[in-house]
Amino acid sequence: MHSQGTLYTISAPSGAGKTSLVAELLKRTPQLSVSVSHTTRPMRPGEEDGVNYHFISHEVFQQMLGETAFLEHAQVFDNFYGTSQKWVESELARGEDVILEIDWQGAQQVRRLMPETIAIFILPPSREALNQRLTGRGQDDDSVIQRRMDAAVAEMSHYVEGDYVVINDDFNTALADLEAIIRGRRLQLDKQQDRHATLLSALLS
Ligand code: 5GP
Repeated sequence: MHSQGTLYTISAPSGAGKTSLVAELLKRTPQLSVSVSHTTRPMRPGEEDGVNYHFISHEVFQQMLGETAFLEHAQVFDNFYGTSQKWVESELARGEDVILEIDWQGAQQVRRLMPETIAIFILPPSREALNQRLTGRGQDDDSVIQRRMDAAVAEMSHYVEGDYVVINDDFNTALADLEAIIRGRRLQLDKQQDRHATLLSALLS
C-alpha cells in the first residue's frame, strides 16, 4: 500500500519563471504531476488546449462552479481560473505528488481545505529583473505590462504565507531548491515508513 501523495502549491508573480521551473522539475522527478487548470483566459500563441490549460467559456466555468468541480478557483485580471478537484484527489490517492501552479488566492483556499499542503513561493532576484522578464515576453502592450507589474507586487506580498521561498536568480539553483523541497518531504518519517515498511520491520525483528 502506498500513502497519499503530497500536494504542493507553487505561486509566483507573472515573469518569475515559475512555469519553466515546474516543467523542468517534472522532467526530472518521478511520481510528480502538475494540475492543468481550467481558465476562461484566451489562449496565447504557442499554448495548447489540455496542455497549458483547459480553455473554457465563462458559461462552462460557471457550470463547473455550480457542480463544485473546483478544489479552488480565483479571478486573476479579468479571467477565471480553477483546479479540478477530482483530478487532484485521484492523483494524490494513487500516491502521486501533485503541484498546483496557482495564485495566492488559490493557495490560501487549498491550505484551508487541506492544511497539510506545502506552499512554495518563487520570487525574482530583483524588481528590474522582473520588469525585464515581463517586457521581454513581447506578447502584451505597455498598459498590460504595467498592470502585470502591479499585480506582481501584490502577488509577491503574500510570500510570507509560503512554507518555502525560492529565489529564481540562477535557473539551475532554483531548480535544485525545488528538488530539495520535494526530496526532503519524501524523506520524512511517515513517507519512509510507507515506502520501506518491509525493510523497517525486518531491521527490527
Ligand atoms: P496566466 O494567465 O499568466 O497563465 O496566469 C495568471 C495567474 O493565474 C498566475 O499567477 C497563475 O499562477 C494563476 N493561475 C493559473 N491557474 C490557476 C488556478 O487554477 N487557480 C488559481 N487560483 N490561479 C491560477
